[in-house]
Amino acid sequence: MYDYIKRFLIAIIMALCVSLLFLGGTHSKAATLLEEKSDTERWIWPADGVISDTYGTRQGRHKGIDIAGKWDSPVLAVGEGVVVKSYFSDTYGNVVFIKHPSNFVTVYAHLNHRYVQEGQSIKQGDCIGKMGRTGQATGTHLHFETHRNEWRYDKKYALDPEKLLGSAAVGDIVQGGIASSEKNVLAVSSQYHSSNSNNVKQKSFKVSQYIVKSGDTLSTIASKSNVSVEKIKKINHLTSDIIKPKQILKLN
Ligand SMILES: [Zn+2]
Repeated sequence: MYDYIKRFLIAIIMALCVSLLFLGGTHSKAATLLEEKSDTERWIWPADGVISDTYGTRQGRHKGIDIAGKWDSPVLAVGEGVVVKSYFSDTYGNVVFIKHPSNFVTVYAHLNHRYVQEGQSIKQGDCIGKMGRTGQATGTHLHFETHRNEWRYDKKYALDPEKLLGSAAVGDIVQGGIASSEKNVLAVSSQYHSSNSNNVKQKSFKVSQYIVKSGDTLSTIASKSNVSVEKIKKINHLTSDIIKPKQILKLN
């Protein structure tokens, strides 16, 4: 009888230990997810421009998203963090890597200028550089990457930036400083503060072109871009309302 009680007690204690381990595990996992979410859910788009390529294209080799915008326009940090790299690479050109509290690393490539240095703390919306086409880039654009935990040469931890910034298709207009998860325009929008304010001239920046995607009409583009149908037709010398996908429309 005594032996039976002893065995019963041991079984109960073991069950308790196992459930505690399990609870502890799920708790810390939940906490990590929550932390990641609170950091990234208010990320902002890093630049003004038109989405010109998305994640996973070029036979899966394109591990980022491309925002084609104006030469020398501001590139903003999507969230707070610390600069872990700021250098010139043959492929990325002038590139900045920022590590965020959630352990995500964001990469800003092909910059014309870099305004931040390794070890520097960055606030959300800080202007870290200017858009360019340094390194292996065919036009003026920001190549933006997000990685979980660390950037690796094989880009093993790369994640589709759309998962963090909100979905965007080729031809969509995005605006730097705006969080896409909600429609809130953060205080940083178009009044970005710079960590090196001497180098940044405050000026308003507008998206200058739009790549037509299927389903678009002149009026949907007009309302999206805040330019009238008449003006779009005039600037682009359109004689009818017919537009076709991949057509590039000037907006100002
Ligand atoms: Zn790219």
